[in-house]
Amino acid sequence: MKGSIAILPGDGIGPEVVTESLKVLTAVENKYNHSFDLTTGRVGGNAIDEFGTPLPQETIAICQSVNAILFGAVGGPQWDDPSRDVRPEDGILAIRKSLGLFANLRPVRVFPSLINASPLKPEFLENVDMIVLRELTGGLYFGKPKKRWTTTRGRRGVDTLKYTEAEIVRILRVGFELAMKRRKKVTSVDKQNVLESSRLWREIAIELGSEYPEVELEHMLVDNAAMQIIRNPSAFDVVVAENTFGDILTDETSVLVGSMGMLPSASLAALPGSKQALKTVSLYEPIHGSAPDITGKGIANPIGSILSAAMMLRLSFGLEEEATAVESAVDRVLLEGYRTSDISGDGGNLVNTSTLGDVISGNI
Ligand code: NAD
Repeated sequence: MKGSIAILPGDGIGPEVVTESLKVLTAVENKYNHSFDLTTGRVGGNAIDEFGTPLPQETIAICQSVNAILFGAVGGPQWDDPSRDVRPEDGILAIRKSLGLFANLRPVRVFPSLINASPLKPEFLENVDMIVLRELTGGLYFGKPKKRWTTTRGRRGVDTLKYTEAEIVRILRVGFELAMKRRKKVTSVDKQNVLESSRLWREIAIELGSEYPEVELEHMLVDNAAMQIIRNPSAFDVVVAENTFGDILTDETSVLVGSMGMLPSASLAALPGSKQALKTVSLYEPIHGSAPDITGKGIANPIGSILSAAMMLRLSFGLEEEATAVESAVDRVLLEGYRTSDISGDGGNLVNTSTLGDVISGNI
């Protein structure tokens, strides 16, 4: 098959990990006789430096013309000055919003071979296999007003957590549909004891739940969820959460897996597995950021990006066998003991970013 992919490496370790995913895609092309047409675009801090905007028009045009987007990460301390009116992160937020990528799927699976890479006790990590479904185009990150100003009594800032019924219904529906294909449990995360938008969220979850009688629906306050995810992670199947809640909880889940560098994600504008999802542009990226503390050292873990590429093969191109081949290659390489430094707590064969990418692509 032929497909077109926008490659947006971004800043920091973004280009380092995306380079390794491209090796994997080349291996898939060669083995399965596919052809991916790749177009690289600028985004984030490096785009601000060159074009004055984190999302140049040319990059928007590329994103609108492809089947899927492979994204690295954006941001870094050099662009962090709060007085700047453009930030690298505005680039990724604008792509998500403009393409309507409301459903962010973040699978969290503990690799048995990495159980000792986590600081948690092994008995807590057995059978951990959940998807955190983060709402991605609404909630606290997008609500207006969102601004800072100065009054005679000092500086002020405001963000707004706002949801429409339609936005809540569509993300929860994705959660229920995912659960139907898994262990049939949805944990709907909210803060309904304090937030009005959460009370609406919970009300809608209950209403929608009645359409899915086979699915066990549980409600959990976000602070309790933060605790239960560490205390009893194998109890979760599909976790559905508001944008900010989902962002924070998934960083926490990376501790179960061993490192921020391990977790992939897919951002979709339609129900995963639907015909519409194959037709609309989706974006795939590791959950981590640009990791300025390790940029340029050649030690970034590329697995989160590589597993994101596997999600792309499955969800944007319908290439199930190829996606599984990439995931199995990652499994095998970890079993063989290859480790970047972030997951080397149990020893193993310490390799750099590029070597890990070579070994994984060589295993396809
Ligand atoms: P981060 O995810 O970049 O890093 C957190 C920690 O995890 C760091 O110690 C880092 O070294 C480690 N880490 C992350 N990815 C790793 C990998 N692949 N291999 C090994 N270790 C890895 O989060 P941060 O430090 O809070 O943010 C840095 C910058 O990234 C900020 O500017 C932030 O705004 C941005 N950011 C961007 C995105 C995105 O582009 N989607 C997401 C999150 C943060």
